[in-house]
Amino acid sequence: MAKVAVKLVSWDEIADWARDLSSKILESGWRPDVVMAIARGGYVPARLVCDNLGVMDLVSVQVVHWPSTAQAIERAFIKHEARVDSLAGKRVLVIDDIVDTGDSISLAKEYAEKAGAGEVRSAALQWISTVAKFKPDYYSINVTDWKWFVYPWNVTEDVTNFMKRIIMEEGASKNRWGFTELVSKMREWYGDEIMKVPLSYISKALINLEQMGLIERSSNGAEYVVKGK
Ligand code: ADP
Repeated sequence: MAKVAVKLVSWDEIADWARDLSSKILESGWRPDVVMAIARGGYVPARLVCDNLGVMDLVSVQVVHWPSTAQAIERAFIKHEARVDSLAGKRVLVIDDIVDTGDSISLAKEYAEKAGAGEVRSAALQWISTVAKFKPDYYSINVTDWKWFVYPWNVTEDVTNFMKRIIMEEGASKNRWGFTELVSKMREWYGDEIMKVPLSYISKALINLEQMGLIERSSNGAEYVVKGK
């Protein structure tokens, strides 16, 4: 059994889900004047929904998570704002890829309302109904078993984070890794699903970890050495 449930999402699935989401919006009889993408995950879904609905105005707002100073709990913050004048009095559709905790999308919705939008509705390709504190007005997929979805625009970043976690957590007992050892550890942690990722992404993730200063190549180049060990 893998430690972390992972599902790789294809471009075809993204296109299907965006079409389905758009149909649901159309069928509701409501049409947004402006689409507001939540950066970064909402960019591709928002662009596809604009195409399906024929919406010309696309703006974005970036929400990030930082630990609040008092507690270790993460809080969502607006990092990059939208142009407020483009929202005034408009019907605004806020879009993200997935509603997991619900913090990002509820904060973005509140932001658009405060910016003077006439009506704000929310949409996501996927809604994790079993954990989310917020239900979007529109969604395509109702996820009931929590998983980490590796979206096609996100593969290098996710694989880098997966490898980083392995190296950090196993680092106490192991500080030298061969490439194939790392790949089999990835399979142990993230299951067979992760093996669908082409090896070139794994090599790129290792380059990223080297650039972050977490690992370095051994002098013969055959192994990755965890730095500071
Ligand atoms: P939301 O407020 O939409 O629930 P979160 O605040 O939980 O989103 O997460 C912020 C972003 O992190 C999401 O828009 C998505 O890009 C990414 N994310 C969160 N949970 C998952 C998941 N289970 N699988 C893939 N990406 C995720």
